[in-house]
Amino acid sequence: MTKAASAAAKDFAAAGVGGVHLAWADNNGIPRSRIVPVGGLADAATRGVGATSLFAVFDSHDAITYGHAGLGTPSGDVRLVPVVERLQRLAGQPALAWAPVRQLTAEGEPWPYCQRAVLEAQVAEGARRGLEFRAGYELEFAVAPAGSVDILSTPGHPGPAYSPHALIGLDGFVAALLHDFAANGLRIGQLHAEYGVAQLELSLAATDPVSAADDQLLARQTIHAAAHAHGLVVSFAPLIGLGAAGNGWHLHTSVRRKGRNLLGTGGDGLPTEPGYLAGLLRDLPALTAITAPSVPSTLRLRPGYFAGAYAFWGVENREAPLRYVPGSSLLGADHANVELKTSDASANPYLALAVVLAAGMAGIEDSAALPEPIAEDPGGWTEGERETRGVRGLPADTAEQDAALLASPRVAGVLGEDLLGAFRAVRASDAAWAAERTSDEIVAAHLWRY
Ligand code: GLU
Ligand code: MG
Repeated sequence: MTKAASAAAKDFAAAGVGGVHLAWADNNGIPRSRIVPVGGLADAATRGVGATSLFAVFDSHDAITYGHAGLGTPSGDVRLVPVVERLQRLAGQPALAWAPVRQLTAEGEPWPYCQRAVLEAQVAEGARRGLEFRAGYELEFAVAPAGSVDILSTPGHPGPAYSPHALIGLDGFVAALLHDFAANGLRIGQLHAEYGVAQLELSLAATDPVSAADDQLLARQTIHAAAHAHGLVVSFAPLIGLGAAGNGWHLHTSVRRKGRNLLGTGGDGLPTEPGYLAGLLRDLPALTAITAPSVPSTLRLRPGYFAGAYAFWGVENREAPLRYVPGSSLLGADHANVELKTSDASANPYLALAVVLAAGMAGIEDSAALPEPIAEDPGGWTEGERETRGVRGLPADTAEQDAALLASPRVAGVLGEDLLGAFRAVRASDAAWAAERTSDEIVAAHLWRY
């Protein structure tokens, strides 16, 4: 590995790259990094660079909570070791390269708080069961001129939604995105002006789960840099204003056994093997505590906004938190997947995927039962109708999310005791911060965090 890192460092130096971002996402989905000079890359790839273990208990506002006993003092260090296969010169920041890290103990063991390792463990568990996963994130974000405080009063594009004209003023930025994503080895499925004011969306091509999470992290760096180069800022926050469309980071997954997509569509238009989807639905309240975990995440979950406020599934139902995307003769069986809409940038991308895969695997294992799909928006039903149809609201605040998480050992167990403790302490710290603020203040404080 040192050999590969040395070779990469040599190429980088020859190309004028001075340093490498060693990047990860914390328990708030906030990217963090250390830059090492290219001359130090080989050493970093072998021994890692040191960082405080307290990053696992940073909250969304950079406050350190000591509410988790395992990380209850300022003492402790972790080694950040770049994943050499993912080293990438940054097209939009040509003097820098980037790599995601593994977080190891000083003995070189996986650190129990390493989110990437948690996802790797689920992928390995899948492989043991003969299952192979594919995953891809869809990213929604809002754009505004650099220096904007409030995107809604200075939107980066005027709409109309999905209009090619909306993006003419952002031509240079869009061209940079298309160029830089390709140059950074990221494949975009599509890019468009989204429904919301100032909103854009791009989808990342499906790949193996760990790569999908790495890609999501690299995509953020790529978008932020392209925006900066064009006098813009972007917000990935779940919500940019209380009445505005949310920024969902929808998570598409599918599962295969011996190359066959288990979500493939039968003659009735439903998945031939419902276990994976049923597993996601069964654990949905606990999953959303990980996949949409911040206070703004819970503000985003409103019916009528395609963000998924109630726990149900549907076939191509945009209001459903679990949207089954069928295969067809035009698209092929491989196309079938399930989209989790209750997912946003405040989730750690590795943890979000890890819990989704675990819940899906458990559903396959138990042959979990899948109720009938719902084609409507239950948000438009009466309370009584929802009760009759067995549709419940998803956890609406941190306390409800925490209770849902603890109620599902299948989901909570994925994190392991240490990481679960840190994650819950961080959520509690965020909730205490939010308790003293208005919803508008909460939204504003998260705008530029991700
Ligand atoms: N912006 C919506 C959200 O908050 C999603 C819109 C869509 O279905 O693409 O997730
Ligand atoms: Mg969208």
